[in-house]
Amino acid sequence: MEEKKIPYKIYLSEDEMPKAWYNVRADMTNKPAPLLNPATHQPMTAQKLGAVFCDELIQQELDDTTPYFPIPEEIRNFYKMYRPSPLVRAYCLEEKLKTPAKIYYKFEGNNTSGSHKLNSAIAQAYYAKNQGLKGVTTETGAGQWGTALSMACAYLGLDCRVYMVKCSYEQKPFRREVMRTYGAQVTPSPSNTTEVGRKILEQFPGTSGSLGCAISEAVEAATSMEGYRYVLGSVLNQVLLHQTVIGLDTQTALKKYGIKPDVILGCAGGGSNLGGLISPFVGEKLRGEADYQIIAVEPASCPSLTRGVFRYDFCDTGAICPLAKMYTLGNGFIPSASHAGGLRYHGMSPVVSQLYHDGLMEARSVEQTSVFAAAEEFARCEGILPAPESSHAIRVAMDEAIRCRETGEEKTILFGLTGTGYFDMVAYGKYNDGDMSDYIPTDADLQRGFDSIPKFPGNE
Ligand SMILES: *Cc1c(COP(=O)(O)O)cnc(C)c1O
Repeated sequence: MEEKKIPYKIYLSEDEMPKAWYNVRADMTNKPAPLLNPATHQPMTAQKLGAVFCDELIQQELDDTTPYFPIPEEIRNFYKMYRPSPLVRAYCLEEKLKTPAKIYYKFEGNNTSGSHKLNSAIAQAYYAKNQGLKGVTTETGAGQWGTALSMACAYLGLDCRVYMVKCSYEQKPFRREVMRTYGAQVTPSPSNTTEVGRKILEQFPGTSGSLGCAISEAVEAATSMEGYRYVLGSVLNQVLLHQTVIGLDTQTALKKYGIKPDVILGCAGGGSNLGGLISPFVGEKLRGEADYQIIAVEPASCPSLTRGVFRYDFCDTGAICPLAKMYTLGNGFIPSASHAGGLRYHGMSPVVSQLYHDGLMEARSVEQTSVFAAAEEFARCEGILPAPESSHAIRVAMDEAIRCRETGEEKTILFGLTGTGYFDMVAYGKYNDGDMSDYIPTDADLQRGFDSIPKFPGNE
């Protein structure tokens, strides 16, 4: 049979878009470990979680058996405003690399928030609204998640309070103004609007803040205001579930043209876009229907999978959130200032961690300057200016394609391109000026982080 000509972009029709999210936990033999109450070390109950999170989202968080969750019509309609996202055949990149490999990427940056994060933001905002809540609180570091959430809340008429790490608030005024344009209230963290913020300011008057501190403030704000809950943009099972629209779309698009990827890869910060992309393919793997090589790509400056340990740890630096079993560098690990803000997280999604632990996927770490070199090469031939986070995946996809050029293998490589980098031009500037450096933590640096992991029986 003659091979069907593959277009530059494969788009699904509205009817072909997924009507349910896929819960890969249902097909996993070893389920991810449950969240633990830090005080008792017993699994968190729905009731206990209900003080912080929305009820329906807690059901999704705790459900390891239901394979499909229908996507409510209102969310599907919102998705139609910026989805389906294209599956792109990187013909120009293939030609530039002179590789026999076939390269595809799923592009999630075609919305104002500039990343895949909107896929979960609208779902979380929808369930909050459905519960009759007034609003939600969250933290944001680089600003992508806060932007996505403010867009979703504006659409549904929910109040949105974002605690933004102070140094980002000051250094990224454009992201801040996008959030305010969508009606969010943005507070630099630490602030004097919360008890925990006031305490931190007293202790460290000149601090420029941290993600852990912003989480603590957002959680306190949610639990101390009537009608508010806290929402999180990555790591949790529910977020990974919502992000499966990426993988389901991709699976349908590939099937239409009879394409079977050999290698599937994506960048991993908290693991939500990667988990969402690979879930349907891992499902096939788990059910024995197909096999794929799956690779998580992380920064060498924050190597949770490649150099971390598989333990129960706090999800936040403030040590107030539940304990999650994951690959972690320790909640006290402070990554060096890297330009991929969305990948500077000490832990990893429990689902991705378990899959990695069980040998169902691999992980690689890459250095910042080589990531930006890949980003520029990609931008110059494929046109899209990629986010630094996404460029980690580009780096490894290119490395794989170059290896194919050397071995003559005609592999099909699929990667997730999570977003655009228009708000990251200071980082590109540093790279262009030759001022960018690579920092790799020493074993002693890592040990300091590991020392912050809580110790209790069964967690050594
Ligand atoms: C947040 C972000 C990431 C990393 O988050 P995950 O939860 O690991 O997917 C990657 N790329 C972009 C563009 C982001 O904004």
